[in-house]
Amino acid sequence: MTDAQIQAACGEATALGKRTMVHAHASGGAKAAVLAGCTTIEHGSFLDNETLDLMVQHGVFFDPNISTTHNYLEHRKQYLGIGNYTDEGFAEMMKSLPIRLETLHRALARHVKIVFGTDATAGAHGRNAEEFIYRVKDGGQSPMEAMVSANSRAAESMRLSDAGSIAPGMQADIIALDGDPLKDITRGEARRVCHESR
Ligand SMILES: [Zn+2]
Repeated sequence: MTDAQIQAACGEATALGKRTMVHAHASGGAKAAVLAGCTTIEHGSFLDNETLDLMVQHGVFFDPNISTTHNYLEHRKQYLGIGNYTDEGFAEMMKSLPIRLETLHRALARHVKIVFGTDATAGAHGRNAEEFIYRVKDGGQSPMEAMVSANSRAAESMRLSDAGSIAPGMQADIIALDGDPLKDITRGEARRVCHESR
């Protein structure tokens, strides 16, 4: 998209009070999106410090979805040959993994508002909690920050004032775990989900 197209899409959404989530890997697209008033950047694999700082200034959320890349690589056989999923593409994905982690480190150091997301990628459903493990073990995010990114900060990014925390009058999906994910992030796998509406 051209910057003018991004401005038209995000500007119109902002005028209507809507949020806009933009899938951008490089700084050029992400910067244009932030300046156009978009509210969340997905992936952000190659964001430079200037763009990360701009995101902080504009209160833009960042979803680094590290597990998405792992999921593609693990399901290479199923994806290969579909559209632009090629050997070259997978080689680039492999190369991008350490870069994406380094970007996450810089984003954390700059206090960018990081949210949890999955990119809704085929093959990852039911294993989304692996994002916590990659974030904490490889990305350097604290276990608590990783958890908060998936509840109250995620709710904040979606402007849901009645979700994301446990309190009277709030809506909640309460997830019971077998251990303490703050001590061992691999315990973040959900065993039971209890939906409670008011
Ligand atoms: Zn995406």
